[in-house]
Amino acid sequence: MKFGTKAIHAGQHPDPTTGAIMTPIYQTSTYWQKSPGDNKGFEYSRGTNPTRKALEDCLAALENAKYGLAFSSGMGATDAVMKLLSPGDEVITGNDLYGGSYRMFTKIYSNYGIKFHFIDLNDANAIRNYTNEKTKLIWIETPTNPTMQIVDIAAVAEIAKSKNVLLAVDNTFASPYLQNPIDLGADIVMHSVTKYLGGHSDVVMGALMLNDEDLYKRLWFIYNACGATPGPQDSFLVLRGLKTLHLRMKAHCENGRQIAQFLKTLPKVDKIYWPGFTDHPNHEIAKKQMRDFGGMISFTIKDADLQETFRVASSFKVFSLAESLGGVESLVNHPTTMTHGSIPKEEREKVGVIDSLLRLSVGVEDIEDLLEDIKQALA
Ligand SMILES: *Cc1c(COP(=O)(O)O)cnc(C)c1O
Repeated sequence: MKFGTKAIHAGQHPDPTTGAIMTPIYQTSTYWQKSPGDNKGFEYSRGTNPTRKALEDCLAALENAKYGLAFSSGMGATDAVMKLLSPGDEVITGNDLYGGSYRMFTKIYSNYGIKFHFIDLNDANAIRNYTNEKTKLIWIETPTNPTMQIVDIAAVAEIAKSKNVLLAVDNTFASPYLQNPIDLGADIVMHSVTKYLGGHSDVVMGALMLNDEDLYKRLWFIYNACGATPGPQDSFLVLRGLKTLHLRMKAHCENGRQIAQFLKTLPKVDKIYWPGFTDHPNHEIAKKQMRDFGGMISFTIKDADLQETFRVASSFKVFSLAESLGGVESLVNHPTTMTHGSIPKEEREKVGVIDSLLRLSVGVEDIEDLLEDIKQALA
């Protein structure tokens, strides 16, 4: 089945009791058993729920994976992967990570004896300098947040395989519409479902998708034992959101392309971060592993201090100043004081996350209104 058909149908069947086309919200914590253990595969909703199961099967299908696991947030999904590790293990990851992932790695898991190497992954071969017998996991994000660096997933996967190390890819920024890391050799795909998959800024959720049965069993054990699983109402909302994922992504990409090109013409705009530009350092890799370039764009304002940047950030009328991304509505975000506030100044400035940087999550509104808004805010 093709992507759009899977987004609408995968994992979903007419409800056996009524024929309802939409998967019902099974708002129940527990399930009747004829005799102990004699049930229909559902025992308790922390571990299994039919609405969540339909969603997980749909999510797995979108990433061309066998298994899907939904979590109550993207961080909950990341946390489950980290719990595969033991004290003494080492992780290699990028130096331009989602702020919450960086915070979890440095403030939580470092205290449990896990060592993290935050490295520049513009050249995947850099990984070879950090692997040793303690390396158990490579965790990458591409495009990165907020500077849209591109990491070569297939190249990293090849190194991970040769060293017998798990590779997990945070695919939140691309969405499965643009990029499928498992097809490129990754072991686990992680999503903040909150973003493009949910798509309507009304749910916080995370997911893991994977193929290996043993790994799935280990992760399902953590999922059920630790319990960061979402309820049926949120699962339903995401199932509904997914039905338009392909339509929304197409519009995000088209609007993103026009805005990136428009920003280039504005004298107040300095650096623009968008993988679709041919002079983006890893444009060729982006072209190879992504189907299009997405709706996320960052840019710096020429000679702007914090006060001037705040003034611009607050002067948008269609774009809302807010954290998060991937919804139908356009958002503007100030990374150094909002999403990336938990990353030390020296660390973030190394990768260009400076005070004059703004990040746009381009929505699917009419492009004329978005361009007009950017024009007046940067006049
Ligand atoms: C938002 C986000 C997360 C965290 O997901 P939550 O659903 O907010 O917990 C992780 N990675 C990336 C790239 C994100 O944008």
